[in-house]
Amino acid sequence: MSTEFDYDLFVIGAGSGGVRAARIAASKGKRVAIAEDRYLGGTCVNVGCVPKKLFVYSSQFPEMVHASQGFGWNPSGEAVLDWPRLRDRKTDEIHRLNGIYQRLIDNSGAILYDGRATVLGPNQVSVNGQIHTAETILVATGGWPFIPDFPGSEHVVSSNEMFFLDQLPKTAVVVGGGYIAVEFAGILNGLGVQTHLVYRGTRLLKSFDAEMSNKVTQGMIQKGVNIHLNTKVTNIQKTGDGLEINFSDHTAMSADLVLYATGRVAATKNLGLENTKIVVRSDGSIPIDNNFCTQEPTIYALGDVIDRVQLTPVAIQEAMVLVDHLYGDKRAFIDYENIPTAVFCQPELATVGLSEEAALKTYGDISVYTSDFKPMLQTLGGGDDRISMKLIVDKASDKVIGCHMVGDHAAEIIQGIGIAIKAGATKADFDATIGIHPSAAEEFVTMREATR
Ligand code: FAD
Repeated sequence: MSTEFDYDLFVIGAGSGGVRAARIAASKGKRVAIAEDRYLGGTCVNVGCVPKKLFVYSSQFPEMVHASQGFGWNPSGEAVLDWPRLRDRKTDEIHRLNGIYQRLIDNSGAILYDGRATVLGPNQVSVNGQIHTAETILVATGGWPFIPDFPGSEHVVSSNEMFFLDQLPKTAVVVGGGYIAVEFAGILNGLGVQTHLVYRGTRLLKSFDAEMSNKVTQGMIQKGVNIHLNTKVTNIQKTGDGLEINFSDHTAMSADLVLYATGRVAATKNLGLENTKIVVRSDGSIPIDNNFCTQEPTIYALGDVIDRVQLTPVAIQEAMVLVDHLYGDKRAFIDYENIPTAVFCQPELATVGLSEEAALKTYGDISVYTSDFKPMLQTLGGGDDRISMKLIVDKASDKVIGCHMVGDHAAEIIQGIGIAIKAGATKADFDATIGIHPSAAEEFVTMREATR
C-alpha cells in the first residue's frame, strides 16, 4: 500500500462497472474513493436496463388482460393507463435501488464523493474543487445518448428523457434501428401510443441473426407498430399542437413526441484526459490494452467508455477482472465470446453465439435447425404471437455454435442455454437432454431434423 497517495484507487463513475470495482477493491483492504456526479448505479439502474424492463412489464398488460378472457376471466371496464402513476412508481423503485448502492459503497469502506470528477494528471483527480491523489485511477464514466445535429434536433428527446415524461404522447416517432429503438417502440405501442419506428437502414437489429431480426420486425408490425425502413428524417418543425417530421422522400408525419435512439457515445468530454497521455478515439471512447490499462500506465478504463460490449454484466465482469489484475492473483478473465444477450422488444429476442451469417463465414459447413410455433398461451388466449427458435451446429465438431429465440421468455430461456454453449455442448448433448413438458423451451432439445 502506497502512502504517497491519498488513495490506492480512485474510481470515476458509480455505474455498473465503477461500483463493482470500488467495492471489491475496498473489500481487499485498499483505500478506495469513487466519484459520481449524477446518480448511483449509473445508466443501468437509472435510465437503462431496470426502468426499461419495468416499462416493458407495464406495456404487456393489455395483451394479458385480453388473453385472460379466453381463460374464463371477465375483466370488467376499460383498462386505462395512469402514466404518472407508472412513471412515479418506477422512480420510487429506482430511488430504493439508489439507496442500496449507497449502502453497498458505504459498507465496503470506499469513500463516495458526490460531484463531477476531472482528471488533472496521471495520479490526480479533482472533485468539487478538491484535489485527490491516487496510485491508480479508473475511468468508468459510461456513455451518453448521441443525437445527430439536424434542423429541429432540439425538439427531440433521448432515451434518458423517456423515463420522466410529463405526459405520455398520443403519437410517437422513434428513430433508430438498434435495441434501444425497438424496445421503446414496443413499450410505447403496448402503452397505447400510436407508434412509428423510423430507420434509415434496410433491417432492424442488424447485428443479430437476419432471420430472427426479421421475425421481430414481423411480430412488431403484427402488434401494431408502424415500421418505416429506408427512411431518413431531414428536419423537424414545431407546430401548434406537436411536431412535424419531414422525411427525405418528401413525405411528412405529425407526432407529439420524437425519440432519437441513434446510438451512444463514450462519456469522456471535459473529463480532463488531455492532462494525460490518453488519446481517445474519434467517438470519444478510450483505447485500452488486455488488462484495461490506457495509454497512461496509472489510468485504467472499463465498461461502456471503452466501447467493447456495452452491457451491464460485461462492465461488472470487467471490473472483477481488473481488480483481480491489480490486487489479486491475476487469474480472473473475461471471455467476450458467446455472451448471451436479449432485446426486450415485443416479441422478445435473445441469443447466444453466432448468427447464421457469421457461422457460415467462420465455419462454412453448418447445420441449421429451426422451429416456429404458436405458444400454448394462445390456444385459449387468442392472439397471433409465434415463437421461433434456431440452433446452428458446426458439422465437423457437432458443437452448437449459435442459439436464437424470438418470443415470450426468450431471455430467461437463452440464459440457461448460454451455459451449455459456454461449456461446449454438442447437438448430441442437446438431443440427450430430456425436455421440460409442457414448455416452449423443450423445443430446443427436440429439434431432430435440420432445416438446412
Ligand atoms: P454507467 O452505468 O453509464 O455508469 C457511468 C457513471 O459515471 C454514471 O453514473 C455517470 O453519471 C458517471 N459519470 C460520468 N462522468 C463522470 C464524471 N466526470 N464524474 C463523476 N461521475 C461521472 N445493458 C444490459 O446489460 N441489459 C439491458 O437490458 C440494457 N438496457 C439498456 C437500456 C437503455 C435505455 C440504455 C441506455 C442502456 C441499457 N443497457 C443495458 C446498457 C447498460 O446500461 C450499460 O452497458 C452499463 O450501464 C454500462 O456500465 P458502466 O459502468 O460502463 O457505465
